[in-house]
Amino acid sequence: MNCAIISVGTELLMGQVTDTNAVYLSQQMNLLGIDVLYRYTVGDNDGRLQEILETALQDCDLVLTTGGLGPTEDDMTKETVTRVMGDHLVRYEQAAEALRQLAEKRGIAFTENNFKQTMLPSRADIFDTDAGTAPGFALTDDLGRTVICMPGPPREMRSMFEHRISKYLRGKTDSALYYRVFRIFGIGESKVETDLLDLIDAQTDPTIATYAKNCECSVRIATKQKTAEDAERAMEPLTEEIRKRFGVHIYSENGKDLPHTVGEELIRRHLTISASESCTGGRFAFELTTVPGISEVFERGIVTYTERAKMEELGVFPETLKKETAVSPRVAYQMAEGLYRKTGSDICVSVTGTAGPGGGTDVIPVGTIYVGCRMNGETKVAKLMTGSTDREWNREYAVSMMFFMIYLGLKNKTASTFLTKKIYNESELQ
Ligand code: AMP
Ligand code: MG
Repeated sequence: MNCAIISVGTELLMGQVTDTNAVYLSQQMNLLGIDVLYRYTVGDNDGRLQEILETALQDCDLVLTTGGLGPTEDDMTKETVTRVMGDHLVRYEQAAEALRQLAEKRGIAFTENNFKQTMLPSRADIFDTDAGTAPGFALTDDLGRTVICMPGPPREMRSMFEHRISKYLRGKTDSALYYRVFRIFGIGESKVETDLLDLIDAQTDPTIATYAKNCECSVRIATKQKTAEDAERAMEPLTEEIRKRFGVHIYSENGKDLPHTVGEELIRRHLTISASESCTGGRFAFELTTVPGISEVFERGIVTYTERAKMEELGVFPETLKKETAVSPRVAYQMAEGLYRKTGSDICVSVTGTAGPGGGTDVIPVGTIYVGCRMNGETKVAKLMTGSTDREWNREYAVSMMFFMIYLGLKNKTASTFLTKKIYNESELQ
């Protein structure tokens, strides 16, 4: 099945409101295995909406609209759709009653135009609202083409879609799109794609696609099947192949990001963790605390930005700072060790580096980052050279590397990334 999405509202054309509804609906259609062929935006204008509707219905079996179902004069989506689909409006008593009850509950009197929302096409399937006052509906014409109308406010629209419309649509399609998202850290996107080229070229079903996102990439495989079991079976051979090619660099197969993958594993295994951060300014701690329940294992995060803080809080040696500077493998090592002495956490991570954009030298160029990680009774330090002067990117990469080192430690594996220049062992840093 294919569809078109029509967003109705002059405010959308004027750029006053961002059309988030169309994005949401596109994503939902994708999950249902319904192809979105077109997206239109049209103002609150009866003639132009009619024109777009007729065009969309020529190409698609299904048209979704949002907006223009409200009580005011400029809301006319329902009237236009009903006319184009060859139906007429009748009072929907259940909606009128619901509105009267709501008025009573809130202790207010609805004005007469509110009851305009209770007039609905005679042949429609009605979707009651639980987040607002405007019901939605699906109306099918003699040719079997369906228009589904939903309210404009995103909260109302999503609630209606989630609770009523997705079920209605599932009844109309005989297959859904199932997919698996592999998240990969430490291999560049171009290399990932090159390594998959034979599979990408040969794809039919399941399909395979790669996406780069900041400092990592994802491989998504998708298949249209009737049941989840059929989908599992269809994806198995390709899944095995992808695992074989990227090994430990695949840190998740369900689309989960690094902080959640690592954080949830720490909680599951009851492993405590602390962090000492310099160039990332607490971003690791911030990301880690996006994971619900992390308070069970996260002991503390310390931002030690100055040399003084590194000495006072973590016992970094002044001689080391003087001789090797703050951006050195030995300082990252001493930060992790000091943190361990202080907290005794099962995992102690540290980071120090030059985020840029300025401040680099020939010896320590911008984008030089050291990540220390003490776990399983030993401390390792990874040296990264990002080659970038983009401050945000460098900081983000540093944080991801901290998570990735923990991830590797949890798997008892070692691996370098395409930006890793060296991994120091304990004996080189004492
Ligand atoms: P309406 O259903 O046309 O009365 O829309 C009510 C409100 O919902 C508008 O004023 C917008 O703030 C919001 N809205 C309408 N359409 C969209 C859309 N496509 N995306 C996001 N917000 C929307
Ligand atoms: Mg509107």
